[in-house]
Amino acid sequence: MTCSFRLESGFWRGFHAILDCMRETPVAELKGVGTEVAKKFAHLGITTVQDLIEFYPRRYDDFSNISPIAKLQPGKISVQAKVIQIKGRYVRRGMHITEAVASDATGSVRLVWFNQPYREKGTKTTAEYYISGEFTMSRGRLAIMNPAMELVSDFQLNTVRIVPIYRESKGLKSTRIRKIVGELRSQIAMLPETLPQAIVARHGLISHAAAQMSMHFPSTSQDVDAARERLGFEEIFQLSLASLLNKQAAQQENTHKIAFKEAVAKEFVGALPFTLTDSQRAVAWRICQDMDQDVPMNRLVEGDVGSGKTVVATLAALMVIENKFQVAFMAPTELLARQHAETIHTMLKSVGRESEIILLVGSMKAAQKKVAHQFIADGTANFIVGTHALISDAVAMKRLGLVIVDEQHRFGVEQRKKLQLKAKGRMPHILNMTATPIPRTLALTLYGELDISIIKHKPHGRLPIKTKLVAPGERKRLYKKIDETELVAGHQLFVVCPLIQGSEVLTALSVEQVYDDLKNRVLKHRKIGLLHGKMAADKKEQVMEDFVAGKLDVLVSTTVIEVGVDVPNATTMVIEGADRFGLAQLHQLRGRVGRGTEQGHCYLIMSDTQAPSKRLRAIESSTDGFRLSELDLEIRGPGAIYGAQQSGQLDLRVAKLTDVALIESARQAAHEFIESDQSINDYPELAEHVEIYRSVTNLS
Ligand code: ADP
Ligand code: MG
Repeated sequence: MTCSFRLESGFWRGFHAILDCMRETPVAELKGVGTEVAKKFAHLGITTVQDLIEFYPRRYDDFSNISPIAKLQPGKISVQAKVIQIKGRYVRRGMHITEAVASDATGSVRLVWFNQPYREKGTKTTAEYYISGEFTMSRGRLAIMNPAMELVSDFQLNTVRIVPIYRESKGLKSTRIRKIVGELRSQIAMLPETLPQAIVARHGLISHAAAQMSMHFPSTSQDVDAARERLGFEEIFQLSLASLLNKQAAQQENTHKIAFKEAVAKEFVGALPFTLTDSQRAVAWRICQDMDQDVPMNRLVEGDVGSGKTVVATLAALMVIENKFQVAFMAPTELLARQHAETIHTMLKSVGRESEIILLVGSMKAAQKKVAHQFIADGTANFIVGTHALISDAVAMKRLGLVIVDEQHRFGVEQRKKLQLKAKGRMPHILNMTATPIPRTLALTLYGELDISIIKHKPHGRLPIKTKLVAPGERKRLYKKIDETELVAGHQLFVVCPLIQGSEVLTALSVEQVYDDLKNRVLKHRKIGLLHGKMAADKKEQVMEDFVAGKLDVLVSTTVIEVGVDVPNATTMVIEGADRFGLAQLHQLRGRVGRGTEQGHCYLIMSDTQAPSKRLRAIESSTDGFRLSELDLEIRGPGAIYGAQQSGQLDLRVAKLTDVALIESARQAAHEFIESDQSINDYPELAEHVEIYRSVTNLS
């Protein structure tokens, strides 16, 4: 279909044709946009007319009040006046000034423009203008600086209104964008409704067209609020529908029913060297119930660091093995995969269960991998623990019954999906685990299709970690104190350094610098190890093993130790350059200590002497992972919690994931829509968006 806006033919083809037309018409076909400008739009991610309409302003400047000239106050102002004189001149090379005098019935005012020589010719001294700009001091006299000026008889884009400010690219200014969007006014006003009419009415929303109009041409700031509410609602509604539909689809899948064997579970729990907490027990029970069904489980277990998720997962895995199916357990790092393989092996051995645990990680030699692949394919191995290596095409599972993903937010949707597909034909049960608590609003929208269980309590006898902010000047004294209290008692110390790139080295301590400083000076009588991502895998493993075995007193590392690693004898952690980490990350890091019965300590060394930020004070005063992740969401956005990849794809333009009320009502509406007998296919616009969200958020 070809269509052109110049013909304004959309009107004759009906409302939905307008939408198609906008979607298919390149911006280059619009009035005032040639190939050059189109290229600049492309830099902003805009290629079609629809992209342009959905390119919402970053903010607005309110120039809507017109003042009599005599009453002008410094600041953003508008006047309605005649320009009675105007003259431009070069003050020196490359510097042109245009000065003018504008006057109304109450008085006159000076106007000044820099480097806009066209002003003089373009201005009529007989006509009425609207003039908007900053009224401020220039060379000792008040003037309106670089104002926008439009004939009273024209449509106002840049004056006497709430002026939208767009994100600009080189050579493409807001003024230009306003003009081009302004040309689309009549088409935007005719945009069809995209939500079911009943929902618009019930939730008191303005129409889609009205909302788009108000985003670009608001008359009041309330207009903008109403437009944001409507469009934000629409986004969350679509996102919620996507996750609900995904959930419905997953429940249509066939799976392998895993019979719950109570005696086996009891035996396993009885053989543990500790008593399960009530939370662990409840969550494990839920999982076993879930798997003993014909529909696949899709559950996320959230438990703060150290809450004991591994043992819960192991119990679930045991049930699956007892039912003669395979379990795939995926962890984000080799270190963690190895440690899991070991602890799980020990736990299962204690109940004399036949489990053939096999490890599959990237650094294994080709021949070793081949053997592993063989055992996995023929079913000899029933418990497969590994990293991303598990999703390699060479891996074929014989009877995959359960997929466990540890630290699930570390994996992309695609990676998780790939692992699930190894079950061939049937859907495996899925157990996702995370130590990064998901704020409620995010959980509802992003992970709405998952059933969520929370391990609320930590094992008994755990003392909350004591966290302290430390000024950089106190560094030496701190290490000395740790040496004389903790290290002397035979406890171990983690020192974590931020990842640092080349030129930054001067301002922050790199892992090598800290290692060198501690080893050769501050703690030279102690055994100190170094661990970072660039080391060879076997070297890393050796260092970690030495630390776990107590052969090292101190481990200086980057965040490679962030997830999962369990060394109960390590009681203290020092985090260098703490301000460089996110809250969720700091919280995870400090979860590495205080995993035994001894008091854990975490010291956050700041990289400068400025007063600590709100974030750092929050982590000092709270050990509540949920509260901290809510805060992170507020301060840094969803990317901080989800990794840029996932939050970027989500691309919510208007809705804020912190707006609980909006999210709840949109989600409620999505539920009602699904339960009603309407079909999403009656709403093509909606269906299309939902389809996109489904592919981004689908975890099953
Ligand atoms: P996370 O939830 O962070 O993955 P882990 O599963 O690694 O935590 O468990 C942390 C430590 O707590 C392990 O050493 C584990 O053996 C121990 N643990 C787990 N559950 C209990 C419990 N109920 N009582 C005492 N210790 C426990
Ligand atoms: Mg863990």
